[in-house]
Amino acid sequence: MAKKKIIILGAGLAGLSAAWHLKEKGIQAAVFEKEDTAGGLCRSKEANGFIFDYDGHLLHFQNNYTLELVKKLLKGNLVRHERSAWINHFGTFSRYPFQANLSALPKPIANECLWGFIHATNSRANSSKANFLKWINATFGKGIAKHFMIPYNKKFWTVPLSRMSCPWTDKFVPQLGLSEVVNGFFEENGNHFGYNAFFWYPAKGGIIQLPQAFEKQIGGVSKNCCISGIDLKKKEIAIKGRGKEKFDILILTIPLPELIRIAKPLPDKILSSLNKLRWNSIFNLNLGLEGRCQEGKHWVYFPQKDIVFFRAGFFHNFSNNAAPHGKSSLYAEVSYSKNKPVNRKKITKHILDDLYKIGIISKKNRVLVIDENDIKYGYPVYDGNYNRETTAIKEFLSSNNVITCGRYGSWKYMSMEDAILDGRQIASSIYGQG
Ligand SMILES: Cc1cc2nc3c(=O)[nH]c(=O)nc-3n(C[C@H](O)[C@H](O)[C@H](O)COP(=O)(O)OP(=O)(O)OC[C@H]3O[C@@H](n4cnc5c(N)ncnc54)[C@H](O)[C@@H]3O)c2cc1C
Repeated sequence: MAKKKIIILGAGLAGLSAAWHLKEKGIQAAVFEKEDTAGGLCRSKEANGFIFDYDGHLLHFQNNYTLELVKKLLKGNLVRHERSAWINHFGTFSRYPFQANLSALPKPIANECLWGFIHATNSRANSSKANFLKWINATFGKGIAKHFMIPYNKKFWTVPLSRMSCPWTDKFVPQLGLSEVVNGFFEENGNHFGYNAFFWYPAKGGIIQLPQAFEKQIGGVSKNCCISGIDLKKKEIAIKGRGKEKFDILILTIPLPELIRIAKPLPDKILSSLNKLRWNSIFNLNLGLEGRCQEGKHWVYFPQKDIVFFRAGFFHNFSNNAAPHGKSSLYAEVSYSKNKPVNRKKITKHILDDLYKIGIISKKNRVLVIDENDIKYGYPVYDGNYNRETTAIKEFLSSNNVITCGRYGSWKYMSMEDAILDGRQIASSIYGQG
């Protein structure tokens, strides 16, 4: 094993975790990252005393191994929070998840949602996973579907929901029993539903603290190294302006669609599979503001069609260190794709106008810092082609000693924890080969 040259493409959490876990087994891999900082999506930046993530990044743990690892890496710089998440609609806020907190809605809407849920529960025999739209109706009933699940998900995914499959829903969409929905109809539900009922976040320095801690222990990530070619025959990568490197095993965490441009030779069938992958993109606007806003709220969902962002979050409520004293730090997220383009020149103003319009910020919150981040690869879309095409691509790559890893290499809806675990799993499968 020691003689095999392992190269990792990308120093996001998945690549860093793979390198860290390989090192733990005594194997040093070479990691190449195109940016000047490791961390990928889990980076943060400082501007005029505000600390922004590239987009809000909160740690949710379902696995004790990851929690303990992250605690060890961050050496106490980690705080646990109980989620304070809301939905803004009907001119008010109700607690997230929608289906657990019908009591906050106008009565006729709450009634429609409850009766729809009861009807869906009684007809569970018809429950369907045929596509995401059918699944929503079958799982939640017509009222919850109409008033939250369909408008929010349409806005977020930007594709017709009837074209999506739903293997990811079990983890990411809270599914409740009748008694919990009925309870939430009468009073605010105190229960903690879903994978993100609690989250962890560094006390200081933003989410970048985590990849930086990994990087320190790996000792050696080659940054400013953009991979411009992968020769699958010669088992060689080309690093822009820096020459070539041979590999025995390549761990790929960069987005699969990038292979169309940089990998060769690709059989027509694989090219066609890569061309069928779909995703949404996220425009993230971070704002540093005068005064405090939305005290106590961590994040808010916006299902409305006439509000451009689908979610806004409040860094100053996760970490005292995220904004100077008495000031606020927020992020707003807009989802877009070929199906639903955004006007890049106007989007920031549009977001600001809507934040004022809906009362998330007020005139006293003068804007002090604007920080824009365009995230090309946001969420891989699970459509009807997803299983067939991703399986074909991964089998082809694996037959060429290329192992896919992480959210964009594996092309899966993954959290940070999932990316860390994926890196660990790849490392142990390689070690196992030795
Ligand atoms: C908008 C948004 C919000 C999210 N919020 C949360 C959250 O709150 N909680 C949570 O748990 N998860 C969240 N996630 C998911 C989380 O960000 C990912 O699961 C995780 O960061 C993925 O890590 P990765 O290493 O797989 O990918 P990445 O972080 O994308 O890493 C890939 C790396 O490859 C590099 N790269 C790309 N191309 C090249 C090239 N040609 N040459 C060299 N290097 C290259 C990139 O620069 C990057 O550093 C969110 C994701 C998004 C999109």
